[in-house]
Amino acid sequence: MAPVTYPDEAPASAALFERALRVTPGGVNSPVRAFRAVGGTPRFTARAKGPYLYDADGREYVDLVCSWGPMILGHADPRVLDAVRSAAEHGFSFGTPSENEVLLAEEIVARVEPVEQVRLVSSGTEATMSAIRLARGATGRSKIVKFSGCYHGHVDALLASAGSGLATFALPDSPGVTGASAADTLVVPYNDVPALEAVFAEHGDQIACVITEAAPGNMGVVPPEPGFTAALRRVTAAHGALLVSDEVMTGFRCSRSGWYGLEGPYDGGAPDLFTFGKVMGGGFPAAAFGGRADLMAQLAPSGPVYQAGTLSGNPIATAAGLATLQACTDDVYDRIQVVADTIAGHASKALDEAGVPHVVQHAGSMFSVFFTDQPVRDYEAARTQDADAFRGFFHAMLREGVHLPPSAFEAWFVSAAHDDAAVERVLAALPVAARAAAEASVPTTEGTPG
Ligand SMILES: *Cc1c(COP(=O)(O)O)cnc(C)c1O
Repeated sequence: MAPVTYPDEAPASAALFERALRVTPGGVNSPVRAFRAVGGTPRFTARAKGPYLYDADGREYVDLVCSWGPMILGHADPRVLDAVRSAAEHGFSFGTPSENEVLLAEEIVARVEPVEQVRLVSSGTEATMSAIRLARGATGRSKIVKFSGCYHGHVDALLASAGSGLATFALPDSPGVTGASAADTLVVPYNDVPALEAVFAEHGDQIACVITEAAPGNMGVVPPEPGFTAALRRVTAAHGALLVSDEVMTGFRCSRSGWYGLEGPYDGGAPDLFTFGKVMGGGFPAAAFGGRADLMAQLAPSGPVYQAGTLSGNPIATAAGLATLQACTDDVYDRIQVVADTIAGHASKALDEAGVPHVVQHAGSMFSVFFTDQPVRDYEAARTQDADAFRGFFHAMLREGVHLPPSAFEAWFVSAAHDDAAVERVLAALPVAARAAAEASVPTTEGTPG
């Protein structure tokens, strides 16, 4: 189905946004949804099915956000919907253990070889926050190392030089994060082994862990250079620090075993701890952290490191996550790879033809388009993007019925429900959007005499 070209004005969404602005800061419950980086009215979704979002004005968009990753099977997948319905009929939350928690943990442990035990939580933020507490508790050390441009949720200690929303808003840091919690965080440029070694040479005996996005997607997709992850393992092990691989975005998306399944096993051993979220919740609030059994045994109630949650392992969220992972077969990974490669290839061709400088980068089926002319190996390079070109591109795609992430610092996400019709619409939109990007990046000649 070829869509009409939609107008930029979206009256029903605009009316809802106006009401939202009165009762919610910035009108949204997570900053990047607000369209601040691209301008205009965020679309309020009324419903979603398969590869499509339907907004309050009744417009249909091919969804390349996929809830920022979780919807790997597409929206309202019938198998997940059945699992959610039948779980809900049996009660919403128990406050006791239940079988689904065991099944979901078994599924994760079966998929990611180095993970022997997991603790379920409700968000990726909780997972990284808890993993860091565990790393500090287990080592008795206080400092942590993170990479510039990597985002690990809105944990105080990790909101130093984060990517994603903060990169979009170009804020160096967040007020409300105390000097004390930031002081124990050391930030290193991504893909920079000498910088990491220098930090360890100075602070090595105080560093509890290095946390890294397994393959960063929150500054746009910046895969680890060959040997980088293995170097993290080598340097941390040499200094008695732990390695935490944040697979909240990549987990169960880049492969059935996440990024680890594509790049591991590593010389020198696996990361000590992993964090998961997004896909494993199937669109519901479920996330996890896990790793070696001896480390996980330090957690309460078996060990002294406290961690808890009223809704952790929620029966509906775990049913959705389990049904999603069970449906994530090789066919699913094959399909999303084909869809990602097709869209990425055509995006690059369209931008070439329109003369728009760009770089497309992949981490498995995760990819993003950088509106810059140089390869992006770290956050500094990601920030050289032409924001005007992206803004023009984004809004043209929206007019053509394709909803991209509303920021140039994000991965584009596809699902196994992106069928040929949905992909065709994206491909048809790309040349139009590429020309809009070219026009948007041209310096204005308004006011030029003559
Ligand atoms: C999304 C994300 C998080 C945070 O997860 P939330 O569920 O939004 O709290 C953490 N780490 C990475 C790599 C992510 O992509």
